[in-house]
Amino acid sequence: MIPDFDVIVVGAGIEGSACAYTLAKNGQKVLLLEQFPLPHSRGSSHGQSRITRYAYTQDYYTHMMLDSYPLWDTLAQETGVQLFKQCGLLNLGYENGEFLDSVSFAMGRHGMPFQSLSSEEVKRRYPMLNYPPSYAAIFDPNAGSLRADKALAAFHTMFKKYGGVLHDGEPVKVITPGQPLVTVTTTKGHYRGKKVVVATGPWSGKFLEHLGMTLPLQPFCSTAFYWRERKEGTHAPDNFPCVYDNGEGDWRSQVYGLPSDEYPGFVKMALHLGPKVDPDARDDADNKWVRDTMTRYVRDHLPGLEPSVAIAEACIFTTTPDYNPVIDCHPKHSNIIIAVGFSGHGFKLAPAVGKAVTEMVLNKPLSYNMAHFAVSRFTHTPSHL
Ligand SMILES: Cc1cc2nc3c(=O)[nH]c(=O)nc-3n(C[C@H](O)[C@H](O)[C@H](O)COP(=O)(O)OP(=O)(O)OC[C@H]3O[C@@H](n4cnc5c(N)ncnc54)[C@H](O)[C@@H]3O)c2cc1C
Repeated sequence: MIPDFDVIVVGAGIEGSACAYTLAKNGQKVLLLEQFPLPHSRGSSHGQSRITRYAYTQDYYTHMMLDSYPLWDTLAQETGVQLFKQCGLLNLGYENGEFLDSVSFAMGRHGMPFQSLSSEEVKRRYPMLNYPPSYAAIFDPNAGSLRADKALAAFHTMFKKYGGVLHDGEPVKVITPGQPLVTVTTTKGHYRGKKVVVATGPWSGKFLEHLGMTLPLQPFCSTAFYWRERKEGTHAPDNFPCVYDNGEGDWRSQVYGLPSDEYPGFVKMALHLGPKVDPDARDDADNKWVRDTMTRYVRDHLPGLEPSVAIAEACIFTTTPDYNPVIDCHPKHSNIIIAVGFSGHGFKLAPAVGKAVTEMVLNKPLSYNMAHFAVSRFTHTPSHL
C-alpha cells in the first residue's frame, strides 16, 4: 500500500504546527489537519502574546528552552517577521522565600544572568508596582514576549514553503491504527500516513478515547484581561517588563502580566487560573470570580492602571496532574504519537516540541529527557510497546 503522506499531524495549534513545520523541514511529506478555519480563537494558541524565558526550575525544560530560543530566531529569520520582544521578566515573591530561591538557583546553575532586587530596589526601578516590603524580585533580562498569533502564522507559512499540505476547516473524526499505515478519516475523506501526530489541545481528552486512551486532561478557561494605563506609555516594554507573581502557594502564584505593546495604552495582567471548561462550550464558563480577583489585584498592586477590565480575551489551557505534557507514542500503536496537555506553559516550548516529535518520528536519538512526558506515568503501561 502506498501512503498518501509520511506523517499526518492532527491539530494546527502551536504544538501541532511546530511539529508539522519541523517534520516538513526535515524532508517529510506532511499533511496538517485543523478542524476550524484558520486563524481561529477557540483553542489555546491564539492571542497577541505569550511570556517566554530560559529558566525553569526543572532542568529538563531549561534544556528544551536552550533550543527553543534559537529555533524561534530561525523562524523569525525565515519569515522576516519579528516574533520575540526582549523586555525581561520580573519574578516576584517573598524575600528569601522558596520560589525566588529556586529561580536564582536554577538560573545560577545554568550560568544565566539575573539580578536579585530587594523590595526597595523593585520600588525604585518600577514605581508603577506596589508590593509589600516582604516582597522581593529576580529579574531575568533574557525573557520577554513572543508574538503568539504571528508565531503561529509563521509556522504555517514556512510549513507550506517546505512542501507541507495544510487543510483547515477539516475535523478529524477517526484515526484507525494500522501497520504499516494509519488511516485518518475526516469530514472530507480518508488519508493514509506512515505516522500520525495527535496535537489536539483542549479536545484531546475526548478525542483520544476512541484510540483507547483515557488521560487525566482537564481544560480550563483562562481569560487574558487588559487594563487601561492612566498615563499612556508608562508600562511600555522599555520601562516595564513581563511580571510573574508567585505568592508562595496562594492564588497570586498564578498572576502574570506583560507590558503595554500589542494594544498601545493597555497592559495585560491576568490570572493563570479559571473555571473548568468543555472546549465546545467555553463561553458558558462563569469567570466572574477571576475578573473580581484581578480587579482587586490591579487596584492594590498596579496604581498606574485603571482597575476595571478594558479588554477580555478568553483562551483555554489543558492541564495534567503534574503540569507536564504528554509527548510519547501511543502505548499500543507506536506509529501514533501524542503531544498534548501542555498545562498552560507550552507556547514557548513549541519549537523544541517540534524537534522532539520529529526525532521520535524519524527514530533518531532524542535530544531531551522525555521520561517526564511519558504516557506510562498515567496509564502504568510501558510507553514503547
Ligand atoms: C491565557 C493563556 C495564557 C498563556 N500564557 C502562556 C505563556 O505566557 N507562555 C507559554 O509558554 N504558554 C502560555 N500558555 C499556554 C500555551 O498557549 C499552550 O500551552 C499552547 O498554546 C498549547 O497549544 P496546543 O497546540 O497544544 O493547543 P491548541 O492551540 O488548542 O491546538 C490544538 C488544535 O487542534 C485542533 N483540533 C482539535 N481536535 C481536532 C480534530 N478532531 N481535528 C482537527 N483539528 C483538531 C484545535 O482546533 C486546535 O486548533 C497560555 C495559555 C493561555 C490559555
